[in-house]
Formats: sequence, C-alpha cells, structure tokens
Amino acid sequence: MFIETRGNDGKKKSKVEFSYAIMNPSASFGGLYVPENLPKIDLEFLQLATQKSYKQITLDILELFNIDIDKDVLEDAVKLYDNFDDKNNPVPLAQIKNDLFVNELYHGPTRAFKDMALQPFGHILSDLAKKQNQEYLILAATSGDTGPATLDTFANKENIKVACLYPSGGTSDVQRLQMVTEAGKNLKVIGIEGNFDDAQNALKNLLASASFKEELVKDNIKLSAANSVNFGRIIFQIIYHVFAYISLLKQNRISLGESFYQIVPSGNFGNALGAYYAKKMGLPIEKILIASNINNILTDLITKGEYDLRERELFLTTSPAMDILISSNVERVLFDKYGASRTKEMMEELKENKYYKLSDEELKELQKDFSAVYCDDNFAKNTIKEFANDGYIMDPHTATCIKAYNELKEKNIPSVLCSTAEWTKFAPTMFNAINNDNNTYSDKEALKGIHKSLHVKIPESINSLFEKEILHDKVVDKQDIEESILGFIKGN
Ligand SMILES: *Cc1c(COP(=O)(O)O)cnc(C)c1O
Repeated sequence: MFIETRGNDGKKKSKVEFSYAIMNPSASFGGLYVPENLPKIDLEFLQLATQKSYKQITLDILELFNIDIDKDVLEDAVKLYDNFDDKNNPVPLAQIKNDLFVNELYHGPTRAFKDMALQPFGHILSDLAKKQNQEYLILAATSGDTGPATLDTFANKENIKVACLYPSGGTSDVQRLQMVTEAGKNLKVIGIEGNFDDAQNALKNLLASASFKEELVKDNIKLSAANSVNFGRIIFQIIYHVFAYISLLKQNRISLGESFYQIVPSGNFGNALGAYYAKKMGLPIEKILIASNINNILTDLITKGEYDLRERELFLTTSPAMDILISSNVERVLFDKYGASRTKEMMEELKENKYYKLSDEELKELQKDFSAVYCDDNFAKNTIKEFANDGYIMDPHTATCIKAYNELKEKNIPSVLCSTAEWTKFAPTMFNAINNDNNTYSDKEALKGIHKSLHVKIPESINSLFEKEILHDKVVDKQDIEESILGFIKGN
C-alpha cells in the first residue's frame, strides 16, 4: 500500500493501492505517494538474477512489490523493452576505466533514460484507463526528455489524452522536434514562455485547480500526471540500478556482496530516488553520488543541509535536463528519513520562505546515503573531449558524473555512472566540445559533423526528425496554458 509524504488530511484515503496512486498522484497537502514498506532483495536474489533477462528481473522485482496490476499487463508492459536497440540486452553496461562503468539507459525509442520508465508505465496506465472505462488527461512538463518519452508511450492509446508543456527555447532542436512532430490525435504539445520550473509550476497549479478539473468533468475526463513524481515511473527506476550490479557480477567485476558507488546526474531526483530505494531494498550500494551542474541546489542540500531558493536564479547550461531548482523527488527521501510531519514542515517552509534547513543530525542521516558535487559547462566540455579521444562518447549530462567520480569516492571499489541520454540529443554541445570551439551549430550540422569526424552511427529515429512535418507549433504565455489545454479537449 501507498502512504503520503505530508501525512493525511482526513479527506483523502490514508492508504491507497498502486493503481490509485499512479492515476491520482497528488496526495494530501500537496504531498506525494510512497510505498508503506519496501520489499527486500538479498544476495541470493542477485545471484539468481545473473541467469535472468532484464525483463524477467523487472517482473521479479515488481512481484516483490505486490502491486495491484494484473500479471499479464505487467508482462506486456515489459515486452516494450524488446523495442530497444538490443532486445537481449536493453541496458548495456560499458567499461570506460578500470573501475568505472557506464549504465547506458538511453537505448530506447526517444534516446533518453526516460523511456526506461515511461515505456512500461504508459502501457499500465492506459490499460487501467481502459478497464475503468474512464477518459484521462495526462499532463506532462518537460525540460526536454520527459516530453518526447511521454508522447511516444501514449501516442494513439485509447482513453488517454496528453498535454505536454515544454519551455520554448529551453530544449535542443532534436528534443523539440521529437515533440512537435509526434503524430497522434490524442496529443497536444505546448511551448511556454518560461523555463522548466515555470512549466512544472504550471502543471502543479493545474493539478490542484478545482475550476480546471470542473471543466474536465463536464467532458467526463479525469486528470493525472506523468511527471517523475508519479510512483508508476519511480518503480521502474529502481530496477536498472539493480541490473547494473547484476551486470557487474556477470562480467566478474565485483564479487557477490561487495559494494559499489552509484553515480547519478540529477535534476528532479527521480533517478537518484530509484537508487536510494534500491539501496534500502538491499542492493550493496556504498553511496549514491549526486552530480549536478551549476544549478547546484542538491549539492548544497547534501553538503550543507540547506535548501535555499532565496537568492537563486536558474542558469541555462549545456545539461538542460538538470537545469532545475525545485527538485520534487527529494521530498520522498525527506519523508523516508524524517517522517511526514517534519516533511510537511520543510515543504511549507520552502513554499513560504523559499528556504529550509536540516538539523545537524538530519544532515548526518542524509550523508549516510548521499554525497554530492557539481561541475560547470567547461568541465563537462573537457570531459566529453577527453573521453571521446579515448573512444567513448558521453552526453553532457553523463559527463557531469566524472567530477563526482574524481572527487567523491572514498574507497577503491567499482563505480557505475548512469548515462541518461544519447549524445545525439545534444549534438551542438558535443561538437563544440570535440572541436574545442564556441561556434553556433544547428543540431543537424553538428550531428553530421560528429558522424564524420568520429564515425559514429546516428539512429534513424533522430535523422528522420528533420524531414518530418511540424504538427504542433503553439507557444503561449504562462497565463494562457489552461485555456489552450481546454481548447484542445473541446476540440477547437
Ligand atoms: C531527466 C534527465 C535527468 C535528470 O533526471 P532526474 O530523475 O530528474 O534527476 C538527467 N539527464 C537527462 C538526460 C535527463 O533526461
């Protein structure tokens, strides 16, 4: 069963099933749903898993969670991993240094790790909607990768409509094209004048808006969200961390029970939260190392115990998916560590005073599981070039992890870093790094240039974007978002 991070308000149910939590993700007082108990995985489980496929391990872990989704639905959901580059190995683990491995999470249809969760999640959600005979509007706000992955998974699904908000000018050409060329009568893509935090705030306001919901009720439509706060995504983000360890075992890089560092480039903290849950479930993670760019709010929280938005402005960097100041999934860790009433207090302080601070003891507790560091664009650029020279191409988000690898390890054990996107989504930054220049390139030029100089393949799904028809060209002011979505629902 699932409970609420800010406690129960007496109006909502205090414990809900998985299906309820993913269809109705906003809990009492604006909190989030979390599992009441986490299942355990032991060394025997890990040992046996070395004989199993990614799909089977996923099903095994889901079974431990004992969620209220039919087995055949889960089986069909994980079959979507067959559409990844290598059906037999959807999540390859590459070795790039003696003790450093890359968990490549981007081999799905939209070339970012969001597919890992959104592919199966989309199947489960639309199946539930169909069985309930209920139409749903799914809202998504994106900094560039959630949008394409959400649209891809829900395109033409029955009983589902999607409205996707992205910051206009805040994504790469490839990311934007992935969204605005996605076909499907049930999809609406809206650029907004603002940054990702504005898009996410607009989404939160709509989810909380009684008048908006009333309008939807008139058309017999319920509201839900596919952002990384939805536990239906988090559950699938636990599994690839476990799988990384199993791959290390299979490659004889670690002995059963030995621990490793998990390095995660973080934004909204969904990926890191998955690692935290995996660690709590028994995966031998020594520590989770959190990498950030100069929007280093998570570094401050984990090193100083302060979440301080008072003097902060958001900087646009070459790792845009991490250009986030309000990192929503942190709340679930706070709840797990300090309980519901303290979490509610901190979240209210953040809303009212743009600030909260952990006590010394609370900070110590957090640092048992996490260390953090950030890097600037220059570091990422140099890192990309250095590794490309040695024959490995990593995207700008993945590159931020190298600073954490260099500086945060305390023991001589293997490290796994999560590679969250394929380089093809951020080609101009990559080309600048490789050429060591600051020229302005279009995505198309840069893709071609890198293909030529490094002889790497560009997937057809990326190449074909530039030929596709633009189906969504709307960019609106923040205050016009609601009207624009209602227009879509009502078919104008
Ligand atoms: C979404 C995303 C991130 C941040 O992941 P969170 O789970 O939000 O912390 C990092 N890198 C890329 C490429 C992403 O798409």
